[in-house]
Amino acid sequence: MNTINHIPNRKAKKVHYCNLCHSKIEIGEEYDYQFYSDGGDSWESKAHKKCLQLAINLDADNGEGYTDEALSDCICDELRKFIKDDAEYDRVMELKTCEQVSIVQNFLDKKQAIQGVSYEKN
Ligand SMILES: [Zn+2]
Repeated sequence: MNTINHIPNRKAKKVHYCNLCHSKIEIGEEYDYQFYSDGGDSWESKAHKKCLQLAINLDADNGEGYTDEALSDCICDELRKFIKDDAEYDRVMELKTCEQVSIVQNFLDKKQAIQGVSYEKN
C-alpha cells in the first residue's frame, strides 16, 4: 500500500464522514486526508484528527493501516482498563465511537499527566 497524498490539515469544504468513528466531519473542520493507491486500486481515507491521533496512540493497526474496527477494539480494551464499574462501562459502551474517542483520550491525557511521561503501550 502506497500513500500518494497525505494532507494532515485539510479543511472540510463540505460534510465528510470520518473513516474511524463514522461521525460527521463538519464544514470548516480540519481533518486528516490520505489518498492511497495499490496497483489499479485507489482509495481515500478521511478522519478526524482526534480519531487518528488516538488510533496512533493505541497502535490500532490491524495490518491494513488504522481502521475503524481496530480502533473500536482498542477503545474497548482501554475503557475496560480505566472503568472498573460495570454499569458505567456498559453506559460508555452505548455511546457513539466519536464520544468514546474523547473519553479514552481524556483518560490517556490524565494518565500521562500523572506519570509525567508519554503514554506507552504495555
Ligand atoms: Zn472520527
